[in-house]
Amino acid sequence: MEDEMEIIEGERCPLCLQNTLTLMERVLNIPHFGVTHMFSMHCENPDCDYHLADLEAEEDKKPVKDSLEISSEEHLQWYIVKSADATVKIPRMVELAPGPDSSGFISTIEGLLNRFKTILEELTQDDDKDVAKKAKNHLKKLNRVLWGREAIKISLEDKSGNSAFIRERLEIEE
Ligand SMILES: [Zn+2]
Repeated sequence: MEDEMEIIEGERCPLCLQNTLTLMERVLNIPHFGVTHMFSMHCENPDCDYHLADLEAEEDKKPVKDSLEISSEEHLQWYIVKSADATVKIPRMVELAPGPDSSGFISTIEGLLNRFKTILEELTQDDDKDVAKKAKNHLKKLNRVLWGREAIKISLEDKSGNSAFIRERLEIEE
């Protein structure tokens, strides 16, 4: 698989204005999706920690609306390509939505579920007891899915089209 990476260090950070910004661009050819450019910015200043990441397919894409049923351990090794414009969620449980903190990434489904777990783990500490209790129950369910003992549906919507479920294993270093 084609994989080129370019790194530029010492750029000016838009947040702390120090020359501590590292820019990265990576070009990947993703099966069933095409040539994709991944961009990220990260500020090396520990007091700042500014971070931004997104990705874009080389060809123009149509809006995407898809869902994936996770019902075996094999599905955990499939992939998601997600742009910062995408909404990806487990309905009535947890979601990643577009916004200032949204980022684009390529990940295994297992990696995506672990991101959801992190969100739910934070919610278990919520001051609202109902929210915390719900999050605990959702976490239990998510763990059963990760152990291959329960099925779950993930939905994906992206008006920019720069997102997809890839229903096979890929040879990608994350
Ligand atoms: Zn900075």
